[in-house]
Amino acid sequence: MRYLLGLLTFSIFVLGNVKAQTPKNSSATDIYHSIEKLNFLGTALYIAAHPDDENTRLISYLSNDVKARTGYLSLTRGDGGQNLIGPELRELLGVLRTQELLAARRVDGGEQFFSRANDFGYSKQPSETLKIWNKEAILGDVVRTIRKFKPDVIINRFDHRTPGTTHGHHTSSAMLSFEAFDLANDSNAYPEQLASTNTWQPKRLFFNTSWWFYGSEEKFKEADKSNMLHMDVGTYYPMLGMSNNEIASLASSQHLCQGFGRLSSRGTEDEYVELLKGDLPKDKSNLFDGIDTSWSRIDGGKAIGEILYDVQDNFNFKDPTSHLPKLLEAYQLLQNISDEHWKNLKTEELTTIISAITGLHLEAFTKTGYTNPSQNVDVQIQALNRSDITIELKSIFLNDQNSNVDNTVLNNNELFKKKIELNIPASTDFTSPYWLMEKGTLGTYTVKNTDLIGKPETPRAFNATFNLNINGVLIPIIRPIVYKYAKPDKGEIYQPFEVVPEATSSFTDKVLIFADASQKRIPVTIKAHKDSISGTVELKYGTGWQVDKKTQPFSIIKKGDEQTVYFTLSPPATENESSIAPIIKLNGKEITKELVAIAYDHVPTQTVLLPSETKVVRLNIEKAGENIGYIMGAGDEVPTSLEQIGYNVQLIDPATITKESLKKYDAVVLGIRAYNVVDELKFKQRFILDYAKNGGTVIVQYNTASRWGSQFENIAPYDIEISRDRVTNENSDVEIIAKDNSLVNFPNEINQSDFDGWVQERGLYFPNKWSAEFTPVLEMHDEGEESTKGSLLIAPYGKGNYIYTGLSFFRELPVGVPGAYKLFSNMLSVGKDKVETKAKIKG
Ligand SMILES: [Zn+2]
Repeated sequence: MRYLLGLLTFSIFVLGNVKAQTPKNSSATDIYHSIEKLNFLGTALYIAAHPDDENTRLISYLSNDVKARTGYLSLTRGDGGQNLIGPELRELLGVLRTQELLAARRVDGGEQFFSRANDFGYSKQPSETLKIWNKEAILGDVVRTIRKFKPDVIINRFDHRTPGTTHGHHTSSAMLSFEAFDLANDSNAYPEQLASTNTWQPKRLFFNTSWWFYGSEEKFKEADKSNMLHMDVGTYYPMLGMSNNEIASLASSQHLCQGFGRLSSRGTEDEYVELLKGDLPKDKSNLFDGIDTSWSRIDGGKAIGEILYDVQDNFNFKDPTSHLPKLLEAYQLLQNISDEHWKNLKTEELTTIISAITGLHLEAFTKTGYTNPSQNVDVQIQALNRSDITIELKSIFLNDQNSNVDNTVLNNNELFKKKIELNIPASTDFTSPYWLMEKGTLGTYTVKNTDLIGKPETPRAFNATFNLNINGVLIPIIRPIVYKYAKPDKGEIYQPFEVVPEATSSFTDKVLIFADASQKRIPVTIKAHKDSISGTVELKYGTGWQVDKKTQPFSIIKKGDEQTVYFTLSPPATENESSIAPIIKLNGKEITKELVAIAYDHVPTQTVLLPSETKVVRLNIEKAGENIGYIMGAGDEVPTSLEQIGYNVQLIDPATITKESLKKYDAVVLGIRAYNVVDELKFKQRFILDYAKNGGTVIVQYNTASRWGSQFENIAPYDIEISRDRVTNENSDVEIIAKDNSLVNFPNEINQSDFDGWVQERGLYFPNKWSAEFTPVLEMHDEGEESTKGSLLIAPYGKGNYIYTGLSFFRELPVGVPGAYKLFSNMLSVGKDKVETKAKIKG
């Protein structure tokens, strides 16, 4: 991974830096590539549902070969997926994946947009998706992105005509795009958006088809392609020293939390798009055929084009600076253009080119990563002209704070340095992802500031504007204020500069389960984000709960240090679900936030402020047995959850399993996808089954059907076939069909209410065939689908028991779902009612 990223920084030059904050250096070929893009006035928008849905080959082709301005609208931030590289899940995973998408776009040259849709988990049908997403709102977000980005062509990743064949989010993304294509130009649709943008009619809508959508390459070969365009996207770019596919692979390899690091493919590569709306191009390899993508498309653009095409045609690679007078002439003409969209866009591009051509290095950095409102921070300014052009630094503004620089002349290669004190206003918002500021719904984020909708991230709070006189033309150049430092093992590092509260608090556990009336000692950690702070922390808690002390004092000397205080919490006598939250009282202010930092090498560090709180659950749970052996699969938090209700859980290293080693356990549990990911199990499976045969209980949680059978003919003691059956609606009805079975009776009686409050889904990869030894215990189904009985199966085996379950305990236990705990406790207690070891815990 490290090696790959090292290569990336080395080879991606024109395509931007890996880290967004790092200043960009441009070679002559980079500048030429930028001028080619400056001279192409066409825009393409790619639309899908998730990070990783996007076809980076096509995005890179459009951006680097066609030279179009290219965007990817991912309706969600991928919050609902799994994380292969760290602990972030749900909204924090969405923050990480947002940054991975931005990293991918820095490689392939695209831009990134999102809607407010939350990736709430798998849905089978778009009808379900569009019920959980606020359809009106998300459709509005697609319309808004089209109106603001103004694409000539839109390309859907998925087919809007085939609901049910892929994830409901996928089909929904295509359906919304199909609808938004026309609505964007209808002033009666979402009229409130027209205060900040105007209507726009894209010319063509395509579906990015491939053989995959036809079932086989053979079928696709025979398909009618009269309505399709075909492009070879395997282009080699000698100017970049890379092929399109190599760039695309590097871009999609940024999706590291999804395990997308992959090999590059090379050579010719066919790409097809099917026309859905608009006219069929005559040139069936050109999405923009017949659309004016020259400077002539804008009023007053022709004269600018004449200058800039000439610069492109006669580009001087040895001395790019020689083009400066012409570029400045074009810059001035551009300022008279009345079309604000093109004027702003092309001014920004041209400014970047002018800056690159003069070797300008402008930066504004702090030596601290964060500060608080009402503080002053030193900002280090550096300005360097690396050309013979006359450049004068007229003024520097840090936001609207003007700093006198006495019209400094920047002579060739003479570094200008200045330290400016920046005042952070008391009203400054804390740095945090804008879509997480308010509490949203299951399917849609709440964003109060509508100007932010569609943006990939919160705009930086502080910028430095360098007002320059370049050869007589006044040009402002804006740089974000960043945090710069060096790490001995990594070198120079640029990170975002953040504004955070003076202190934040956090709990160790996000859910606390009280299985009986015992008190628990709760640690609350206070972290200082300022030197010398002292105050108190108070614990807020619900009715029926009690704490020993109302407040605890804290005092921290050094910024960055932590102090832990303890509260003793007593639960109510009866079942109860509530939450506890610390309130820090400091200098007359109340702070209720937790600060989470998301730090990886491949993306800029992210600071997320979330409500500091923990769910507390008082259960009346009974259990039999004490010692549980757990064989971890792909990774889940079930062991910690079981410890919370009083089990002694030992993680078992599969390599150490012997005929005798499992005997000491009351039950042996296999973590999710254990048979899919732990190869060692194929040598140890017989010991696991023998353990059950001799009186133990084996509980296997979900595995996917792939790789099943070929390696593990004896995964269960009897025949069982894993299918792709899943019940995705977490509120779907559950019927107990084996009413007398121990699993729903001992030691906890399970009834309908135990299936309330589940999250994300009921379960997945349920078996759909099993031999007669198994007893199915539950029956459930999603709306409009056939019932499945495979979610929880139990079979006696020798003196013991074997249980297979696809129920999503790995999701339910960590969030404290009471019924899931009781059911799991019953699984662990199977067989114990026959012996005299029943250990009751009562409140
Ligand atoms: Zn997807």
